Amino acid sequence: MALIEIPARRGKALRLRAGQRVRVVNTYGQQIVDTWAFNNEDLNEFMSMEHSRVAIGRIIPAVGDTMVTNKRQPIVTLVEDTSGGIHDTLFAACDRWRYESLGCAGYHDNCTDNLAAALAELGLATRETPSPLNLFMNIPVVDGHRVEIRPPVSTPGSCVTLRAEMACIAAFSACPQDVVPINGLALSPTAAHFEVLD
Ligand SMILES: [Zn+2]
Repeated sequence: MALIEIPARRGKALRLRAGQRVRVVNTYGQQIVDTWAFNNEDLNEFMSMEHSRVAIGRIIPAVGDTMVTNKRQPIVTLVEDTSGGIHDTLFAACDRWRYESLGCAGYHDNCTDNLAAALAELGLATRETPSPLNLFMNIPVVDGHRVEIRPPVSTPGSCVTLRAEMACIAAFSACPQDVVPINGLALSPTAAHFEVLD
């Protein structure tokens, strides 16, 4: 299947059958991709970071780790990672209030609204924004307890592949964060891509 663009600062969602894989490509190397997965039958069941950290025993999933839902059911497994293995499960999706708190005047694109817009393209809506799996996002825990925001370690063309463990709706947001350097020191969000593999 061809590469599908997640446009810079925007979101995109798709349906996956159980067993299908989706490869998320960090096309330009420094772009965070907020990632969600929802049970196709019930959008109130979704990939949960807090439940997944219990299931996998760490704060960053590694190849072979299966993420679970808020009902503790397997939903996606990380089956390939060429990005350096640094991702984030701790930070909430950015939203209008995050940018207000950072001093942005007026509306700022954000991952929360991108998720809603991507789902709306499929005729879907959710009541809340689950905490995303922040692919390529580098939030190390330092000094035991503190978290720091650092640029990604991923490189152009590197990728992560997720296998659906249930029929689900996957959603991605090319994070529009351009105030703090989570999308690289250039503070310049870019597009990313994905492809579905049967
Ligand atoms: Zn974001």
